[in-house]
Amino acid sequence: MKTHEAGLPDPSHPTCEMAGDIYLSEIFSGIQGEGHYAGYRQVFLRLTGCTLRCAYCDQPESLELRPGDCRIECTPGIRDFAHMESPIPVPEADKWVDALMASAPHHSVSVTGGEPLMQSGRLARLLPLLKEKGHRIHLETSGVLPQGLARVISWVDAISMDLKLSSADRQEIDLSVHRSFLDVALGSPHQPHVYAKAVIAAETSATELCAAIRMVASAGPDMEVFLQPVTPHGPVTAIPSPAHMLALQEAALRVHPHVRVLPQTHKQIGQL
Ligand code: SF4
Repeated sequence: MKTHEAGLPDPSHPTCEMAGDIYLSEIFSGIQGEGHYAGYRQVFLRLTGCTLRCAYCDQPESLELRPGDCRIECTPGIRDFAHMESPIPVPEADKWVDALMASAPHHSVSVTGGEPLMQSGRLARLLPLLKEKGHRIHLETSGVLPQGLARVISWVDAISMDLKLSSADRQEIDLSVHRSFLDVALGSPHQPHVYAKAVIAAETSATELCAAIRMVASAGPDMEVFLQPVTPHGPVTAIPSPAHMLALQEAALRVHPHVRVLPQTHKQIGQL
């Protein structure tokens, strides 16, 4: 087995993955602020670990797959957090999520991160427990780990896939990686609802965006794509102008009819 820091087992190794506890940073009830399900009430299950380091990332404390604090809301919407040491046994995580789901009306459980599919083996043990109780699963992912998705897709009802644009995230994700991910997502007999989300920066060009949109259109002609103007964070200080957003949407609509613009609404109303 690969080793991690100081000779400890690497928590992303498949052997650890199938047997180990799950690495989380928080569990809470909140209002979804992005994409197709914006405005719905969800229980958020935030896993730690991510393979990327996007310039605008607002979850820097969730990027490393290693032990740490996990805060767990006890009463939906009250922010009365209990604290546990992560990683957490899978049945314990199931119990906390189910308690929040049961104590107020919620649409679904949003499995988010970090990149939740870095722990697909652990999710393959947790998601069946949540599905047994009738909870819908909404997966928020960077869309770069198709094999991880294949492990869990049979328990997933909806997938929000990032469409990474290097002008915004300053990463270099080849469109073929997203295409492989979409082939798994859209080819599944379970037929989850799949949509894409692209963060747009002031530097994003119509050429870059339309290449990504064309890939989505060829993989899923009916798929919605949400253009999300970047929220300034860390080194990202500039936002795309209203005129720039209009021009980008127009260019994108010329290649795909399902392109919508939606900012991060939860940040506008002061939600987590
Ligand atoms: S994929 Fe998401 S969690 Fe990972 S670095 Fe990018 S924004 Fe942050």
